[in-house]
Amino acid sequence: MRAVSPVLSLRGVTKRFGGLVAVNGMDFDVAEHEVLGLIGPNGSGKSTTLNLISGALMPTAGTISLRGTPITELPAQDIARRGVSRTFQLVRLLPSMTVLENVKAGAVFGHRRRWGAEADTHAQAMLESVGLGGRGHLRVGQLTYIDTKRVELARCLASDPKVLLLDEWLAGLNPTELEEGIALIRRLRDEGRTVILVEHVMDAIRSLCDRCVVMASGTKIAEGGVSEVLSDPEVIRAYLGD
Ligand code: ADP
Ligand code: MG
Repeated sequence: MRAVSPVLSLRGVTKRFGGLVAVNGMDFDVAEHEVLGLIGPNGSGKSTTLNLISGALMPTAGTISLRGTPITELPAQDIARRGVSRTFQLVRLLPSMTVLENVKAGAVFGHRRRWGAEADTHAQAMLESVGLGGRGHLRVGQLTYIDTKRVELARCLASDPKVLLLDEWLAGLNPTELEEGIALIRRLRDEGRTVILVEHVMDAIRSLCDRCVVMASGTKIAEGGVSEVLSDPEVIRAYLGD
């Protein structure tokens, strides 16, 4: 059988900010339908890696490919259009617009573009899929924190992403919300979506990911099965030193 090329590949991806090497020669692949955990202590370069993949930042060196096609030099909106969609560590929505309008923005600007009534219907379906079917008419400012996170996720899903990048999507949730949040990501996994999950909540990594990549000080220090990686002495040391 012909080997299927990974959805996303990073090779030697490096980002310097002046004298700081925030991301240092990162190599990893994400297979189709995979939920890959990207973990590491604070400041290890996880968000920067997502910024490089989504095109918010341009790498200093290295190559990022989507289905074998380099996207390294493309502007962020072109990368989004090719199917890379992300949530932010600090939720970014348009507060004066309604929930439905925010989600519709994903349908209009994403990978598979929809317009008019089709965009409305699709946005509404995505809102329902994150449990906010009845909230479309509200302003984003009227929502609870977890609901703003749900809207951000719905907006990503509305673009029919080939790869979904979740940056600490579960951070700041209370225990009940956390369970709901994990269940929601599990559903994405069961739908066969391809996801990079940047997460500090280790229970989520354990229950949602088959594989993870561990970063420390910008460098990949481990990669493999979750239980194997989390028991690696170098990984434990990196976390204890945090
Ligand atoms: P993580 O998401 O793993 O906590 P980040 O990717 O946010 O880590 O940050 C990695 C390192 O890069 C940190 O030292 C951070 O201060 C630095 N950094 C991130 N973004 C910038 C930037 N735009 N300019 C300068 N330094 C940055
Ligand atoms: Mg971060």
